[in-house]
Amino acid sequence: MGTIYDARRGTLYNERIMFYGNVIAWFVHVLFCLLFWRLDVTSLFISNGVSVLYYTISFYFVHKRWYGIFFTGLFIEVVYNAIISTIILGWDVNMHYFILMMAYGVFFMPSVTKGQRILTTALAMMIYSILFVNVSDGMVTLPQPIEQALGLFCILSTVMMIAGLSFIFESAVVEVTDELEQSNEQLQVLASTDGLTGLLNRKIGHERVSESIEQASRDGISYAIALCDIDGFKSFNETYGHDCGDRVIQQVASILSSVDGLAVRWGGEEFLLFYTNSSGDVYAITEQLRHQIESTRLEYEGEQLHITMTFGLAVRTQFDTLEEILKEADDYLREGKQNGKNQVRFLRKGEVQ
Ligand code: GH3
Ligand code: MG
Ligand code: MG
Repeated sequence: MGTIYDARRGTLYNERIMFYGNVIAWFVHVLFCLLFWRLDVTSLFISNGVSVLYYTISFYFVHKRWYGIFFTGLFIEVVYNAIISTIILGWDVNMHYFILMMAYGVFFMPSVTKGQRILTTALAMMIYSILFVNVSDGMVTLPQPIEQALGLFCILSTVMMIAGLSFIFESAVVEVTDELEQSNEQLQVLASTDGLTGLLNRKIGHERVSESIEQASRDGISYAIALCDIDGFKSFNETYGHDCGDRVIQQVASILSSVDGLAVRWGGEEFLLFYTNSSGDVYAITEQLRHQIESTRLEYEGEQLHITMTFGLAVRTQFDTLEEILKEADDYLREGKQNGKNQVRFLRKGEVQ
């Protein structure tokens, strides 16, 4: 699990950070180069010149997406420059803040183990502490306004970089979470529906129908379960092939899915329906479905196929287990098949069960 997260983490951060990070770093060092050239601080002019050179080459790492090399180079360059700038210009120029920034930034480096991250942060803190204890005045004294401006720039850019990284991290987490939610939803749909018809599959259908029975019983409304089976289905398969049989199943399923309740593909060419009398008379609804199927003409390879279906209907006004209701619906379905098919079979008034 962690592996998938780490892989996403890498691609999410790097593509955004690498390019813009490199552009910013390149510009900053060009500016520093010009500044130290004007101020006659040769050592820092040279070291910033080397940094400009490094970041120019680093565009190639960005292009190649060599994340590990890019971030390691960046880390070394920033820490190295911060050390020598602090030693040469003194503590008040605030170049040391870039070391703290790296101590935080290392947690965003890809392809680095947790141990390496902790070690690098510890190393950055140690370097920072050594400088803190040993450096106060520098070797070169800058004009006061420039020292102040540099000091402000260093602390503000450090805060900005920390805020920027945190922002990118946060949006990356939101992005990954959104993706996970979406794929979870897709998985739920896949796990609950039948691939051929898009109706509920038997497992989930069983659960949903059982829940609906409980709900209807609680609400005190009568409900019905219909078990229905396509008539003479085997002949579609045998005459026109399996693909034709599939099309017949899909056609019937699309009609059954219009029911105001639940439609489940119970098996092969057998379906289970659940509805309550709150959406109309359950007998009339079932009869209407049967009629709709009978009236549909499915065209297959130039032939008009005539489809019919037999329904076994069990109606309840109180709670009963799905198994019990199904047994009854199945008995009626069998009766309907024996009695000539293409009909809705149920317990009629006056009949004894
Ligand atoms: P009856 O009128 O008595 O219901 O007869 P029938 O021909 O429909 O009989 P039966 O229930 O025995 O036939 C079901 C056949 O459906 C058997 C099986 O090969 C086929 N079948 C099951 N699932 C699928 C499917 O997903 N696609 C296709 N094409 N055929 C299927
Ligand atoms: Mg059949
Ligand atoms: Mg069957």
